[in-house]
Amino acid sequence: MRKAVYAGSFDPFTNGHLAIVERATNLFDEVIIAVGQNQSKSTLFSAAERVNLIERSLAPEGKVKVALLSGLTVDFAHQQGAQYLVRGLRNGSDFDYEQRIAAMNYQLAGLETVYLQARPTDQMLASSMLKEVAAAGGDISPFVPPIVMQAVIEKMEARD
Ligand code: ADP
Repeated sequence: MRKAVYAGSFDPFTNGHLAIVERATNLFDEVIIAVGQNQSKSTLFSAAERVNLIERSLAPEGKVKVALLSGLTVDFAHQQGAQYLVRGLRNGSDFDYEQRIAAMNYQLAGLETVYLQARPTDQMLASSMLKEVAAAGGDISPFVPPIVMQAVIEKMEARD
């Protein structure tokens, strides 16, 4: 069984992330979305909220699982019995950043990293930018699943 871990912050989960997950399910028997809970990064949504939003954004089918990630991604992948890591690439800077991590993960645990090129429409899409647009009152509905859109609006209103 080919299993892959797709790890990230997903703060919040965007249509770009969703497209990567959907395409990964064509390549793997199971895809585990691993939601990072890096204490040093301040996030709009808590890790539990991000897990919940991702679960509600996905089509109900058995191939995708969502879990919290703490500790090393390679250890998590090992616990899950996954042999692959999936990453999305938007541009050369993503690649520069990712290739060092991929090399380390291969060295640490022989884990293969599979890169999926972002769809042309997703290349400018970044969670950080969407948060800025939403905070300034912009409409992010073309870029995120409807459930995420609603949650972002509620967060922004709660902050005001
Ligand atoms: P991280 O904190 O690891 O950068 P992100 O949530 O920003 O987490 O992204 C997780 C993964 O999804 C990374 O591989 C990133 O390159 C990829 N990704 C982010 N946005 C997009 C997008 N719009 N299209 C395709 N891949 C993306």
